Amino acid sequence: MAASNPLREALTSGRFCYVVELVASAMTREARVLEAASQLAQMPEVVAGSITSYAGGAMGRDPIRVGTAVRARGLAPNIHLTCVNRDRSNARSALEDLHALGIENVFALSGDYPKSAAAGGPEPTFDLDSVQLVTLINEMRQAGMPFWIAVAVSPFKYTEADCAYQYLKLEKKIAAGADYAITQLGFDARKFRELKRYLGERNLRIPVLGSAYVLAAKPAERMAKGEPPGCWVSPELLARCKEEAQVADKGLAARLERTARIVAILRGLGYAGAYLGGDHRADHVRWIIRRSEALSPKWEECAEEMTYAPKGGFCLYESPVRPPKKRGFIPRFLDIMARLFPVYKEGALRSALTAIFRMISRSPAASRGLERVEFAMKSPMFGCQACGNCVLGMMEYVCPQSCPKGMRNGPCGGSLTVNGRCEVVDKPCIWIAVYDRAKTASRVDELKLYIPPPNRSLKGTSSWMNYFLKRDTHPESHKPSSAPKAAASSENQSQDAADIVHSGK
Ligand code: SF4
Repeated sequence: MAASNPLREALTSGRFCYVVELVASAMTREARVLEAASQLAQMPEVVAGSITSYAGGAMGRDPIRVGTAVRARGLAPNIHLTCVNRDRSNARSALEDLHALGIENVFALSGDYPKSAAAGGPEPTFDLDSVQLVTLINEMRQAGMPFWIAVAVSPFKYTEADCAYQYLKLEKKIAAGADYAITQLGFDARKFRELKRYLGERNLRIPVLGSAYVLAAKPAERMAKGEPPGCWVSPELLARCKEEAQVADKGLAARLERTARIVAILRGLGYAGAYLGGDHRADHVRWIIRRSEALSPKWEECAEEMTYAPKGGFCLYESPVRPPKKRGFIPRFLDIMARLFPVYKEGALRSALTAIFRMISRSPAASRGLERVEFAMKSPMFGCQACGNCVLGMMEYVCPQSCPKGMRNGPCGGSLTVNGRCEVVDKPCIWIAVYDRAKTASRVDELKLYIPPPNRSLKGTSSWMNYFLKRDTHPESHKPSSAPKAAASSENQSQDAADIVHSGK
């Protein structure tokens, strides 16, 4: 029988619960975090302390060590495990360490791009993306390590592609084995409602914790500029926070009240609990809990007031449906070629090409020549980096290596909330093009396909040869080890705005 885990128990029993974020940054005094953990452990509503890793893209304290100390103070830890500078064997050994320590709760995240790299330091490794990380954890769970897996989702995206893709990616994470989701922080009740409706319509019964962030003026200023990546505060809310900071308590009462209102909204909308960030003081947490309970009967009123969003920002069930964009020449041409030469199907064409590539593979010089030809063709067209495991056909002819994090299963949550631009380089997130092209071709649902991590030993070799000789990793070569929590049948999905957006009609 699995050991006691208050977080798992609360979520499986449907009891509204609280997880408090404990930031393990290098700037935070560890003794203070542990003191907070001791006090939070006395509160039955608080079921875990969530220990951050690489928060805001800066190296912090070792979350496993801090988590172990937090547990020694009586609070269940939820360890953030990011894909930053971690290859799959390193991820596996971190998970083995957690299992050996008896820690069950893991929060699987892509992670913020390291600030040091953005400032010209060494490029980070992103061997896995968050969906692949969930798949790895789930495989280890099936091998006997009882992990309880959290994943992130941001409903606070205000362009159609970014918003729709967050939900598509959440579905992939659920299919990969996620047990529950935690939202990004945000101050727009319509978006909290939108996420619940999206999951409800698809019969995806995964518990979700909504972020309730205790927002003071200084972090509000940073978030108004998009920092940390994926966080955003509207000009109206920023002005309000600054005004609140003018009074004697420097805005404390006002921000605790706002947080309690968010918690009341989450409770009213049927969220499984609240993920409290921005303040881990036990007396403040206790006040928020009590006040949110008192506000419960008025949650809809609170929701009407909590609408800090960009003007004209996209809402899945409210915004007019944008017509599909015109499909460009290259995707159209490649679609035609794929129809004329269906090499992915078993048959004479595939057998002939396999025989040719096998012959070429016997000569190192010919293999090298083939790789050079492939690279010369694909580099100018797609920004190819010769990864050797080509998935252009599954990503609407957008190369995943042109994403600074090399994500293969959808965008991270770090894009700028209002316009979907990349958190690392000044250009639109590559997943916007993937979504737009898929929408035009009426194949958005195909974006839910799981793409496994590449075989890195094939870098610098011909992906054509690797594909035909079955050396690479691609979706057909990966057998998912778990089924989705609930598969939505076509009958029980309503023909709502979301479906129209997704089908591209
Ligand atoms: S997925 Fe790999 S092989 Fe394909 S274009 Fe991108 S870098 Fe090149």
